[in-house]
Amino acid sequence: MPTPIGHALGGIAAGVLVAGRTTQPVSVGERSWSLLWVWALCGMLPDVDFLIGGHRGMTHTLGAMLAVGFGAALIARRRPAVWYAAAASYGTHLLLDWLGVDTVVPHGIMALWPFGDTFYVSAYGVFPAVCRQYWLVDCWVDLMQAVAWELLLLGPVAAAAVLFMRRR
Ligand SMILES: [Zn+2]
Repeated sequence: MPTPIGHALGGIAAGVLVAGRTTQPVSVGERSWSLLWVWALCGMLPDVDFLIGGHRGMTHTLGAMLAVGFGAALIARRRPAVWYAAAASYGTHLLLDWLGVDTVVPHGIMALWPFGDTFYVSAYGVFPAVCRQYWLVDCWVDLMQAVAWELLLLGPVAAAAVLFMRRR
């Protein structure tokens, strides 16, 4: 599974692809959020379940992706491109996790919930498993290699998306 960096890059690429060249920030209360930050956060958001001790549960599902799109509709009421882009950015997390190696049982993600509770994982292993034994030097070496691979694979796509967005 990718690191948060890979998920942020995937979220940015999908958000720009769906929302296009719009750069108007999203306002939540009195605070404005750059769309690139919103797309990156949506890409990383499913792993929030780490904070409650789980992983790859309900936050890694189609249902959660639709809920994020609905939440975006409540926040940015008259901007449907933001709704779809937020859901798409969130959805890249599911795709990238599906493409990654998963060493934790149950393997994969319950991608289609609430329409089914089967766990899915691809056979491609595009992204290596992320080491969580942070006290080991080898773990940090593995993490750096994983980030380098993600930057190589997803960095150009996200950079192209940002250039496209900013080009006038
Ligand atoms: Zn995840």
